[in-house]
Amino acid sequence: MTALRRQTVFASLDPPPAWPATRGRPRPARLDTELDALPGVGATLKRKLAKLGLETLRDLLEHRPRRYESAVDEVAIAALGGSEEVAIAGEVLNVSSRRRGRLKIVTARISDGTASVAATWFNQPWLEEQLQPGVHVRLRGKPGRYGFDVKSYDVGDGEATADFAPVYPASEEIPPKRLRTLVGHALGHVADYFDPIPAELRERRAMPLKRDALFVIHRPESEDEAETGRRRLAFEELLVLQLGIARRAAERENTLAASLGEPGELIVRYREALPFSLTPYQEQAVREIDADLARTIPMQRLLQGDVGSGKTVVALYALLRAVEHRRQGALMAPTETLAEQHFLTIEGICAELGVTCALLTSASPKKVRTAALSADVVVGTHALIQEGVELRDLAVAVVDEQHRFGVEQRKALAQGRAPHVLHMTATPIPRTLALTVYGDLAVSEIAKPPASRRPIVTRWIPEERASEAYTRLARLLREGRQAYVVCPLVEASETTLARAAEEEAERLRRAELREFKVGCMHGRLKPDERRDVMARFKARELDVLVATTVIEVGVDVPNATVMIVQEADRFGLAQLHQLRGRVGRGAEQSYCLLVSRPKEELTEAAVRRLDALVETTDGFELAEVDLELRGEGQLLGTRQSGLSDLRFTKLRVDRPLLERARKAAQELVDVPGPLDDELAALFPEAGVAA
Ligand code: ADP
Ligand code: MG
Repeated sequence: MTALRRQTVFASLDPPPAWPATRGRPRPARLDTELDALPGVGATLKRKLAKLGLETLRDLLEHRPRRYESAVDEVAIAALGGSEEVAIAGEVLNVSSRRRGRLKIVTARISDGTASVAATWFNQPWLEEQLQPGVHVRLRGKPGRYGFDVKSYDVGDGEATADFAPVYPASEEIPPKRLRTLVGHALGHVADYFDPIPAELRERRAMPLKRDALFVIHRPESEDEAETGRRRLAFEELLVLQLGIARRAAERENTLAASLGEPGELIVRYREALPFSLTPYQEQAVREIDADLARTIPMQRLLQGDVGSGKTVVALYALLRAVEHRRQGALMAPTETLAEQHFLTIEGICAELGVTCALLTSASPKKVRTAALSADVVVGTHALIQEGVELRDLAVAVVDEQHRFGVEQRKALAQGRAPHVLHMTATPIPRTLALTVYGDLAVSEIAKPPASRRPIVTRWIPEERASEAYTRLARLLREGRQAYVVCPLVEASETTLARAAEEEAERLRRAELREFKVGCMHGRLKPDERRDVMARFKARELDVLVATTVIEVGVDVPNATVMIVQEADRFGLAQLHQLRGRVGRGAEQSYCLLVSRPKEELTEAAVRRLDALVETTDGFELAEVDLELRGEGQLLGTRQSGLSDLRFTKLRVDRPLLERARKAAQELVDVPGPLDDELAALFPEAGVAA
């Protein structure tokens, strides 16, 4: 659809070289002003702000308060007493400061006509200058040892922050109060925001203007008002995202892919080669994939399912559908180590079927790489395969996203040739999140794992009782079971991790696991060596595998029924769930023992993570907890994916908003407008603008 442009000048007149500026018009460019333009921001503070990701006025204005301090009663100074937090207001009579040890104390006597009180501030010596006699102040705090201990305050024409103060995600270096003041200065610039939401839509939905929404999230009069503002901003965020997604989907309808027809002889042999028949859920997924592949529009499908639900079998099915047509399948993993694990998982069955399968690594010599590129099934990282446009004839790509949502990757894959793409996430993601970022994809869900497995019994054990964990382990080993010991996750290179794992294996061989055969598996082993370790573990030549997180995919030994995770508090929730999925694969009862420092030493989030794992083995439930703990921005892994943070959206409560944004996006698919600029920023170089 083409936009109609209203004629804005008389045809007979030449327009002036420049139109005079309208007074008070928004100047969005000013929002890019750096923060040292604000009063009181010098080089040091600027640097500290940058660490919080705050560099421009826009950043500051879009810094969402995490919560609001609730209002407290204002009382007359004469009525002060008790230990409740209250607000007082009055004039400064005099001010002084002193030191007590390392404490710097500023005291101001405040009077409101009913009485006076000594208000005290700790370690804020600069206040002395502001608290000149006669200045009006509004203070929030409570009666304390020195008179009135001030918690928050407004000096001069109070902005009533003491009533309903926003609390920002601040750092130790920048106290919330400081941020509040800075935001206050920046608020003068909200008028420089254009509202990118079409006016008609905004009116229909009775939405406030962007500038007003931004204003009220920082200076709300009530919790409700703040929430109205937040929702307006969240709606825009979701709308832009959904619009991009809708346009991408529309674009895809115009892209051609090879139809892969009906499944044929190779698929028959694949089914026969599997030691089991597919579950009804897998059959359903496979049917959906077949229907997609028969079309000449590229498949974009998300395969959802919990750890161990049997996604890999389905993914390989899709790859073989390409091979059947003498074309190529590619399996893409987020890291090279994971790619190697995937390769080891599928190479055996591929060989059995006479299908060539090759691993593409950055270390492979040129000749090997060239050969790999013409294999039937190529396994590598996203990056490698994208570079590898020289792939002979890619028809189906399986993308293991591992919590890194690949907007860019999806884009790159769709360029040039258009393969059919099946997306998998290593661990489940919350359904709202899936809809938000994968809204354009059809979804197949494997809702139940094969066979009825017993839920894994998970225990959280403090370090000082770790020996109990090993006693338990030894008992199960003697009964003929096998086990994993997962080494601590340290912020270090793969090499350091590998060395730590080797050392731990050595230590266990001499100590707790003296009587057993202990192997070691890490990312520094070559695929051959890893294959060998896995084979020996499978053949029960090894009782225990001491490992790094490499075992999170592709390690599949039903007789391994115990896992000990050392320093479990260091791992993310999704990763622990994924690791735990290595046990519980057989009929025997399995155990996962999470060892950590004592509870008291852990962060609140770590405690919640470990508690959640003990409580449930349901990956979707855990994904919700993860979302709650980490927020949407981090869960999206936005840095990698090119998605801007969802700053205002709270997916757990914004499902209705998301639905509305999806609907609105449908209406706007073909309509160019100011939202296109936001889109261009969100999906760089993607042709998703109308
Ligand atoms: P996911 O990739 O979803 O984590 P996997 O594909 O690794 O799960 O499958 C988990 C385990 O279940 C593997 O041991 C696999 O061989 C087995 N499996 C998969 N499908 C079936 C099935 N239909 N019947 C029995 N076992 C199956
Ligand atoms: Mg798998």
